[in-house]
Amino acid sequence: MFESYFKVHKRCPECKVVLQPHAGDELGVIALGYFMTLAPSMVGLVLAYFYTDWSPLQLLLFFFFLMTAILIGFYRNIKGIWIGFVFLLTGLRKRL
Ligand SMILES: [Zn+2]
Repeated sequence: MFESYFKVHKRCPECKVVLQPHAGDELGVIALGYFMTLAPSMVGLVLAYFYTDWSPLQLLLFFFFLMTAILIGFYRNIKGIWIGFVFLLTGLRKRL
């Protein structure tokens, strides 16, 4: 599905389905990525708060590091979930 780490193929190499037929659906990826990054980062922050004696600044840095790491590490999964979700809503099509 991906031709490089961040770039999605225009069409599926196997079945030629257009993977991102709707311009402007990037907003959905941002929203989905936001929640899928924020939720585990909040859990990590709460755990760090109770199980370490870090200062508020250290906790904040840890939180930002966690957000960044999760977003980059799971970018392809989040993007894939979103593309699948759009297809569930609109159906597969070979061409538009
Ligand atoms: Zn395919």
